[in-house]
Amino acid sequence: MAIKHTAVSYYGMNYTEHARQDFEEMRAHGCDTVVLALTEFDIDFWFPNINAIVRTAHEAGLRVLADTWGIGKYFGGENVSLFLQNNIHHRQVSAYTGEVLNAACFVTNSFRDYFRNICVKLARETEVDGFFWDEPHYALPKSYASITGGAGDDWACRCPECMRKFEAYYGYEMPRFMNDDVKQFRWREALFTLSDTSRVLKEINPNLEITCCVHATMQSYYVTELRGYDNWEMVAACPYFDVFSSTIIKWDLPEDFFRDITERTVRIAKKYGKESERWLMGYHQQPKDWKQIDRIVDMYEEMGVDRLATWTYRGGYGTVVSAKDPIKLWDCIGENYKRVLKK
Ligand SMILES: [Zn+2]
Repeated sequence: MAIKHTAVSYYGMNYTEHARQDFEEMRAHGCDTVVLALTEFDIDFWFPNINAIVRTAHEAGLRVLADTWGIGKYFGGENVSLFLQNNIHHRQVSAYTGEVLNAACFVTNSFRDYFRNICVKLARETEVDGFFWDEPHYALPKSYASITGGAGDDWACRCPECMRKFEAYYGYEMPRFMNDDVKQFRWREALFTLSDTSRVLKEINPNLEITCCVHATMQSYYVTELRGYDNWEMVAACPYFDVFSSTIIKWDLPEDFFRDITERTVRIAKKYGKESERWLMGYHQQPKDWKQIDRIVDMYEEMGVDRLATWTYRGGYGTVVSAKDPIKLWDCIGENYKRVLKK
């Protein structure tokens, strides 16, 4: 088995001469791909500069994937959302309490148009090599949700637009208690938002590579998180996705959890003819034993993972989600990338 690509995410979208140094540092750390974490503000305000950044990355020898990071708080990410700032409608609603939530409802035509237009503009006016769908999800109307699959009763979205669409399809009012129709409705609508935009992007440029990265959640008989993309078979079967990816696992979770997520990721990617990708936590939390990074990278490689990716450049140095020793973490991941890439 061989690792085909090694990626790292990057926030610095402002000045090419600074980005050039960072991209060269990424190359020196064994990266061959940069995932540009594009915020709604970057796309709106810095748009004239984005392609200059993309070209600079290409000159440094990196592939470039556009990550529609945290857009509408539909995708994962700490950034703020212009959509939520500029719209008082089209938000997700808690099923149990009726509270309006601070997340765009991606089932609405308004948000779907907004998201697709952003991506189409990037595809037409920049030279990105592909797109990265970063942890898309329904809002969880609970503050203490665990990425390891803690059970929760409330769910989203039960906004007026979702309710109308549900009733038109199933012939009865969308219930507050999640039944099989609600599950199916949420899976179908969630996937449509991404598959429809992915289809349009492939029509613009068939060479654009699309990765869909879902939450690395437990899916047992008893517990799933039901964030909309937890039906991995359904997601991986989408013909417009090229890479099936599952997201970061905290270093202090049991090794069996890493193994279980990776086994399912690789198996399902293979079944639907996609490449598989697994992530490394390169920010916020670092392993107690640096050698754990070597062991997990070895595990991924042995289990047949095609691609590795890390969030984020320099261990999140200078941000509130920096690792305790960010540069050491970045260097350890870099050493592993150099060790396994196309060896
Ligand atoms: Zn809704």
